Amino acid sequence: MRRYDALVVGAGFGGLGAAIELKRLGYDDILVVDREDDLGGTWHVNRYPGLAVDIASVTYSYSFAPNPYWSHVFARGAELKRYAEHVADTFDLRRHLRFRTSVEGAEWDDTAKHWAVRFTGGETVHARYLLTATGFLSQPKKPDIPGVDDFAGTVVHSAAWDDGVDLTGRRVAVIGTGATAVQLIPKLARAAADLTVYQRTPIWVTPKLDGRIPGSVQRLFARFPATQRAVRAVNSAVLELIMVVGVLNYRRARLANKGAELLALGHLRRQVRDPKTRAALTPNYSFGCKRPTFSNDYYPTFNRPNVHLETTPIDHIAADGIITADGRKTDVDTLVLATGFDLWDANFPAIEVIGREGRDLGAWWRETRFQAYCGVTVPRFPNLISLNSPYSYNGLSYFWTIEAQMKHMNRLFTEMKRRGATTFEVTDAANDAFLARMTDKLQDSVFYVGNCAPARSYYFNHHGEAALLRPTSTRNGLHEAANFPLDSYTYA
Ligand code: NAP
Repeated sequence: MRRYDALVVGAGFGGLGAAIELKRLGYDDILVVDREDDLGGTWHVNRYPGLAVDIASVTYSYSFAPNPYWSHVFARGAELKRYAEHVADTFDLRRHLRFRTSVEGAEWDDTAKHWAVRFTGGETVHARYLLTATGFLSQPKKPDIPGVDDFAGTVVHSAAWDDGVDLTGRRVAVIGTGATAVQLIPKLARAAADLTVYQRTPIWVTPKLDGRIPGSVQRLFARFPATQRAVRAVNSAVLELIMVVGVLNYRRARLANKGAELLALGHLRRQVRDPKTRAALTPNYSFGCKRPTFSNDYYPTFNRPNVHLETTPIDHIAADGIITADGRKTDVDTLVLATGFDLWDANFPAIEVIGREGRDLGAWWRETRFQAYCGVTVPRFPNLISLNSPYSYNGLSYFWTIEAQMKHMNRLFTEMKRRGATTFEVTDAANDAFLARMTDKLQDSVFYVGNCAPARSYYFNHHGEAALLRPTSTRNGLHEAANFPLDSYTYA
């Protein structure tokens, strides 16, 4: 049976970053599999109208692979996909990629000291190291609304956009008002005859300082990369400040958080004429409890005569329309589900992972608590790098998380090799101490001190723990990744 040095699950930016780091460490017998038919992860799968990144591209990219030619401050989706392709070519990753390959599960073989990884269809391969980079927002969520399967018109989920769907002149309904819907709704409104937006929880929206990047600036970035690095540093510092002060230190810095709320409320007041609509679009939870977003064309969409904001809960969906709890029916022929992703049931982990002593990662996380040392490794799971673990994501630019994880891999694998070892496993003591520290740090955050109950935020798991984000600065995350105590692991 084929045995690789390393198997990476997922060819998005996380998986590509892991593969780059493995190659830097000297591993070349690497297989990167993805269930899709091409690389890019989120930026391959998502292609709904209006798709763009909402972290400035200068920051939402690998620091070691800058792109001086971003067309806009916030790159459009297709541009990010091209960037992923460029990275794959630059770092010679293509020969390691295998598409249309779904992983069902993986089991650690403690005698052979490798992972047995099962693909759908029956094939099994072995790998000494298993790296899962399956994303957080990768399992689309279909709403559990009665009758949703009875709808007879066109149904499209934002994460499975049908390029052939023509919205011109249609009576469209969109369910959901998350970051995806904020990008999608202005586009739908322009095409549809009539658009009804079903909102359960309003989202905080601040202005988006977007614009085309002139050719002269692109050339400057290309000629003098230090200029782009400087812009990245400034942008990163601002984002870090928002996160650390307004979100993580909410207990001591409520005023800073209030400032962000006031910015968003002013934006809403300037952009929406009707006071009743404004009131309906105003969130009733603290800024930062769930992912806020940035947009200049979301709010004005609600001034259009063909757009209706519906806040009465949906009772059920019929073949030809949506019926709200007050008995009103809206006729619909196209239903757009911008209902996000299932994090806590379908993910964590996205595949079955069985470690040493038969420990089932998903079951163990649910029976105990969601946990992973530095958001990367888990006791009883030797040679597993679980990149989409609890407390791994720093918030804001995902590339900070990816690069911290690459640093962690580098330190860990370098030490393992230095000792002449081939397996590693995080100790219970290191893992317990990390979990205790994250739990403690969360006590000051907006998640536990702010008013988050009405937010319905996917940052929280079923136990009410905000176990998704690492509640430290990104600087701290990067520093620890490069300096964690080497005896956090056992090596053999
Ligand atoms: P989301 O934030 O989870 O939003 C899903 C929306 O669907 C929410 O408004 C939710 O309402 C609603 N919904 C779900 N089930 C429902 C039901 N049964 N009945 C009524 N409403 C229902 O998902 P998303 O908008 O796809 O965004 C996910 C994340 O992707 C974002 O937070 C962001 O991190 C990322 N994202 C980034 C970008 C970017 O960078 N450009 C763009 C889009 C998305 P409730 O809030 O009431 O649950």
